[in-house]
Amino acid sequence: MAHNTIINTTKPYLPPFDEYVEAIRPLWESHMITNMAAYHNILEEKLKNYLNVPGFLLFSNGHTALELTLHAMNLQGEVITTPFTFASTTHAIVRNGLMPVFCDIDSKDFTIDTEQIESLITPSTSAIVGVHVYGSLCNVEKIQKIADKHHLKVIYDAAHAFGITKDGIGIGTFGDASVFSFHATKSFHTVEGGGVSFRDKNIGCMLYALKNFGLLGEGFVPEIGVNGKMNELQAIMGLCNLNHYSEVVERRKRRFQQYIEELKEIPGLQFMRISDQVQHNYTYFPLVVDKEQYGMDRDTLCNELNRQEIYPRKYFYPLTSEFACYQGRFDSSKTPVAKRISHEILTLPLYDSLVEEEVSRICRIIKEEHLK
Ligand SMILES: *Cc1c(COP(=O)(O)O)cnc(C)c1O
Repeated sequence: MAHNTIINTTKPYLPPFDEYVEAIRPLWESHMITNMAAYHNILEEKLKNYLNVPGFLLFSNGHTALELTLHAMNLQGEVITTPFTFASTTHAIVRNGLMPVFCDIDSKDFTIDTEQIESLITPSTSAIVGVHVYGSLCNVEKIQKIADKHHLKVIYDAAHAFGITKDGIGIGTFGDASVFSFHATKSFHTVEGGGVSFRDKNIGCMLYALKNFGLLGEGFVPEIGVNGKMNELQAIMGLCNLNHYSEVVERRKRRFQQYIEELKEIPGLQFMRISDQVQHNYTYFPLVVDKEQYGMDRDTLCNELNRQEIYPRKYFYPLTSEFACYQGRFDSSKTPVAKRISHEILTLPLYDSLVEEEVSRICRIIKEEHLK
């Protein structure tokens, strides 16, 4: 029997070594290695075009970008959001002195349940923070309608949604701002990095200051900022990766479709559905395991896969509202769908260099466990 290697959920893409090394060579001449230098600005412009958004800025990472975006919006009071996300979304809200008000999610697409948003709006509500979780898109039209009616800002955590379009429209054009992550594990990355797309030039100006200690020119410091700058080594990694991005997505797509093909006959498994209107990036393969129909719960299946050296992730378990740091502050029973999904979800390995045989091996185990 062929030897099995450990399979993790993600494995960062790396461009050909020589390509990156050649690309960074000019830095040894210029010594300009950070502070919104040449390659940073080239990448910023390229991504603005690629994402087809009115305004775009780069950051040192997605979380800083999100925290600063909420800051730049000058929000107060309560923010309606979901607990079915990475720690970053909720932390960014709380660290801005805002109160997250958790809305439940839709059981089919895992995004904020737009039917429930209005019932959570109070005179203190200032914004809606939606998450395009796994690149599954929020109902952006409905959310905008609600926001317009109640004069709320809309910010999207688009960390999973790089390059996704709906009816050909870049996902970063919806809402007041969208925040992308270019972390190593995301489909497009700059090792660590992030970006914000926005509509209002004033927000762009504010964000530019905030990521550079609040400076806006020599000796003029109008904001209390932080250091959220992307450096040139990161920017060049982004430029190299962008060259290969379409191949990366194509390879991910093949494995994504293979999973569906090999798992679709097994009862009790729910997949992420991708609408025909959507051009996707295939960053994640979330699987919802219904214990009754599948015959085994998520944790037992996960343990079995782990025993065979396959390490899927329980993204997103626990809910952010259940984190130890928020103990006693939120009640996760108020978001029953999110709570249930968090106990049933398993994100299977998916990355560009994952091969057909590996996906088959994972699917075979999932099939065998069902029959046990
Ligand atoms: C990755 C991620 C972030 C944070 O991005 P970093 O670039 O790692 O700081 C924020 N939100 C979600 C949903 C993420 O998955």
